[in-house]
Amino acid sequence: MTNIASNLNEIRKDLPANTKLVAVSKFHPISSIKAAYDAGQRIFGESREQELRQKVEALPKDIEWHFIGHLQTNKVKYIVPYISLIESVDSLKLLVEIDRQATKLNKVVKVLLEVKVAAEDTKSGLTPEACRALLEDGSWKALSHVEICGLMTIASNVDDLEQVACEFDEADSFFMELKSKYFAAQDSFCQKSWGMSHDYRLALEHGSTMVRIGTSIFGERQY
Ligand SMILES: *Cc1c(COP(=O)(O)O)cnc(C)c1O
Repeated sequence: MTNIASNLNEIRKDLPANTKLVAVSKFHPISSIKAAYDAGQRIFGESREQELRQKVEALPKDIEWHFIGHLQTNKVKYIVPYISLIESVDSLKLLVEIDRQATKLNKVVKVLLEVKVAAEDTKSGLTPEACRALLEDGSWKALSHVEICGLMTIASNVDDLEQVACEFDEADSFFMELKSKYFAAQDSFCQKSWGMSHDYRLALEHGSTMVRIGTSIFGERQY
């Protein structure tokens, strides 16, 4: 049996102060989230809009929900009312739609840009070139109801730790490039979301400020 509370405590021992832990609860039941909540966890990550909605309704209101999966523009309106951070923004079109829906609700939605630095071809996100182009274009600056708070990335799922470390370093220097070019005056551009169950310790050594951990907290997902 998975002991969620003790898993959480083990992970917390590894985390430097001010590092955020996102408990990735996708595909896990409400009872598991409740167990983590009772152990003090307040930030949870989900990757599917409907599943998120059901969980939001069933669980305490002081939970901070992060959206971490691929997000279709037509689903944005469903999650904007209750999302704390959308970590997976991968196009200007999506950013524009988040701003549009947030404007209707008179709120500002925090987002991360998802960048693809992994050598593996299957990963989602903006390439660094596409991300530069998006920011260079400048039209995002007129979007007053989204706040870009940093970057998210997923490293290659390989055993070669050097490769994974290289990818985190690449994301880290890309973050610094964008920070100095576009966000120097914006303190809220400060989050670097990388590191999952198998690579979060390494991620913390390579600039991460936010780790997204599912399996090591909740056990294997039942798809
Ligand atoms: C599922 C998922 C995670 C968590 O993965 P684990 O290996 O279970 O820790 C983290 N980030 C994203 C984007 C995910 O989709």
